[in-house]
Amino acid sequence: MASLLQPVQGMSDIAAPEVAHWQRMEAVARDVMERHGFTELRTPLMEYEDLFTRSIGDTTDVVQKEMYSFERSHHRLCLRPEGTAGVMRHAAGLGPIEAAGARWYYIGPMFRCERPQAGRKRQFHQCGVECMEEPSPLVDAEILALQVDLLRAWGVTDCEVHLNTRGAGTEHAAVAAGLRAALAAREGDLCEDCRRRIHENVLRVLDCKNEACRAIVSSLPPVTAFMGPESVAYLEAVEAHLRAMSIPYRRDPLLVRGLDYYEHTIWEIAGRRAGSQSALAGGGRYRITLANRAWPGVGFAIGMERVLQLLLESPDASALLPPRRPLLWLVGLGNAAQSANLVLLRTLRAAGLVCRMAPSGSMKSQMRAANKAGAAWTLLRGDDELASGTILLKNMTTGDQRPVPADDALPTLLLSETAPAPARP
Ligand code: AMP
Repeated sequence: MASLLQPVQGMSDIAAPEVAHWQRMEAVARDVMERHGFTELRTPLMEYEDLFTRSIGDTTDVVQKEMYSFERSHHRLCLRPEGTAGVMRHAAGLGPIEAAGARWYYIGPMFRCERPQAGRKRQFHQCGVECMEEPSPLVDAEILALQVDLLRAWGVTDCEVHLNTRGAGTEHAAVAAGLRAALAAREGDLCEDCRRRIHENVLRVLDCKNEACRAIVSSLPPVTAFMGPESVAYLEAVEAHLRAMSIPYRRDPLLVRGLDYYEHTIWEIAGRRAGSQSALAGGGRYRITLANRAWPGVGFAIGMERVLQLLLESPDASALLPPRRPLLWLVGLGNAAQSANLVLLRTLRAAGLVCRMAPSGSMKSQMRAANKAGAAWTLLRGDDELASGTILLKNMTTGDQRPVPADDALPTLLLSETAPAPARP
């Protein structure tokens, strides 16, 4: 039986000090997104199961194997495995006129019941956008550039963009037929899954991690060979915009992305590190049918755990965090001093200082609590200090201490005395 002291397998608590990186990434993301004209959309973590089986495609791994689905009150529900379908449900609820041109971003947990391993969780976090402007190569390139800029703002400077196209929706059948014909002679050499995938959803063969399958797939013609000139021109227009913005990318003729709703531009971004979990993010143009209407958009999702893992591998990771105000600990000897400290605590906090106190205990135990919490400064007073209107300010690193006046000027004095070191340029 699983331990009640552990989170569910594949899921994690996020606590200090790591949580500071999450807070920074979220704050940076909000800033970057808002500057690009996106507003936040918070959709529920739970949706009707149908929303995903219809939009993602019922032959995809996510739908076939990975969804946390269950029945409650005669409804099939599931925890969201990705963010796009919920955002499109919201758009469809607003209607086409209201939703046209919308730009939304989201940050939050997604759930997939995959085999847990390094960089692969069952609850993980994605930061993503969906843009519902008129489909055009220019918007696709702008969204891809935003994703690269966000990764750079987080501190990921070394990543690779892999770009390809799924072609227009009307070409999907021709692409599938072309790939099936190209694979026919080698069908017997494919893994068991791929022998099934050829007939069920041949694009999945291109995604297979099996060595033998990869070797066969690498000799296939590019998917663009089965598309018309308009789709190829669309991709080339995206590439021209990327070059104009100096966004480095690589055309990857075998890239297909895992979900069925894509058409035209698709991409993945990989961090430069060894191992199979180097995929940081994906994105692309899609068309999702809801309420008998097609909802076109372009968007991306970044795996936040993967980005953080990459950042934390750098020895300079802590330099990414903004400087924090040091912790100040109030020590009071006797009830009168403790009560006066409680009042002072509120004044100091209102002035912007970070401070705490222990509710009771000897001086020794209060100092021990201050040390354990990592206090950089203590403010100590007993009856004598109360009588003289002073308080003892102690620097916990150097051990230096001196009495300072406990008057209205105290917050200002402490703000300058305890200011954190300026951020490194
Ligand atoms: P996808 O929606 O599958 O295109 O995923 C987009 C990004 O989310 C990937 O590039 C990964 O960075 C991240 N991701 C997907 N699945 C997981 C997972 N199980 N655990 C951690 N990150 C994931």
